[in-house]
Amino acid sequence: MEIKYWDQDIETISRDRLEALQLERLKKTVSQALKTDFYGGKLPERGIKSADDLKSLDDLRNLPFTTKNDLRESYPYGMLAVDRSEVVRMHASSGTTGTPTTIYLTADDLAACTDITTRSVVATGAESGDVFQNMMTYGLFTGGIVLHYGAENLGMMVIPASSGNTERQFRMMKDFQTSIIHATPSYMLYLHSRMADFGIDPAQLNLKKAYVGAEPHSEDVRRKIERLWGIDVYNSYGLSEMNGPGLAFECVHKDAMHVWEDAYIMEIINPDTLEPLPDGEEGELVLTILHRDAMPLIRYRTRDLTRIIPGQCACGRTHRRLARMKGRTDDMLIINGVNVFPSQIEEVIMRMPEVGTNYLIVVQKAGPLDKLIVKTEITRESMTDDTRDLYNLKQRIVEHLRASITIKPVVELHEQGALPVSEGKAKRVLDEREEN
Ligand code: AMP
Ligand code: ZN
Repeated sequence: MEIKYWDQDIETISRDRLEALQLERLKKTVSQALKTDFYGGKLPERGIKSADDLKSLDDLRNLPFTTKNDLRESYPYGMLAVDRSEVVRMHASSGTTGTPTTIYLTADDLAACTDITTRSVVATGAESGDVFQNMMTYGLFTGGIVLHYGAENLGMMVIPASSGNTERQFRMMKDFQTSIIHATPSYMLYLHSRMADFGIDPAQLNLKKAYVGAEPHSEDVRRKIERLWGIDVYNSYGLSEMNGPGLAFECVHKDAMHVWEDAYIMEIINPDTLEPLPDGEEGELVLTILHRDAMPLIRYRTRDLTRIIPGQCACGRTHRRLARMKGRTDDMLIINGVNVFPSQIEEVIMRMPEVGTNYLIVVQKAGPLDKLIVKTEITRESMTDDTRDLYNLKQRIVEHLRASITIKPVVELHEQGALPVSEGKAKRVLDEREEN
């Protein structure tokens, strides 16, 4: 198998040189962090008053963790380390109400981010002649635009299709002879299920690869997409706090995802004791970004469960790999690629006076997509025989939820006392999507 690199020197750098580079960049990250309101107070408490207080990579273990909540509390500029006028890009994460979590990049940060996403797509064998149809959502979410830049940087022809509008997606795939798609795994399955409806004959298409990510999926799902479409499917993992996709990507060997370790330091910790775990052991992924002057993030707790694969990949890249994500340590749900916390749903429905005290969130598979059902009890006073009133109430709940979580749920209204009450801790979420 021919192996292509975007930047062979850095991709196959020796571990010694890589670690020296990490230390140098970690120092830069710390000196940037010291300029922020957030770390400016926290780091000196741990004895880090200047970057020179870091003597080796092991000293990272003495630095504090950072959480999503810290990001929220620092909104909007509490973690900004440069003058606002130097920022050329911002993004915000889905899955938040009220206070979003935002990130910022300078022009240099953006160039570094684009460079690693280009490395990632080249690792899958992509070439400048490829036609890249980007079906991830464009907007505040990093998923769409960040990989767009990486693909464009390689010289692929990028179609910024964004998500949805299946008929148009098919038309563009056919007319432009798309060779690579970027989408959620569930959308890849959905798209395939609609092929016949739109009169598409697979022979009219030129698809070779798909990059799938933004939501958990199993090896079986990957194989299923590969079999249905007759293409190679590569797992891509990222999170907006860390600049989104490009962070961890499979190479042509499709055997776990390389993390670009000159741009990120990864640790796996035991989420209960917070102690670092050795390679090969499963725990929570913690990331430190090494290439973002505008907004350093140190020891960020991703809440994603995975492990580092020991040993080197057959592709010759020396950057270590992460196994497919096992799940999350918090209660965040990922519904058709969108992050939803049950607390967001609760916040919306409990604001409505007609809603009673008990509710249940159910997530199911509806064909290849996910379906969110919100069952709520309504107060005795609001329960009427007038179906029009009930219909209107239901529509209002749907609209309020859609405005908050961006996806449209199915809402069911129930009489007071109709939903199950659990003994002890309330069970408010039933995730009925099977692990397949
Ligand atoms: P966002 O910040 O909106 O990009 O969401 C990031 C989260 O999506 C991660 O923390 C993961 O929980 C999830 N995620 C992204 N890519 C993958 C993937 N390939 N496999 C499993 N989960 C993923
Ligand atoms: Zn590899």
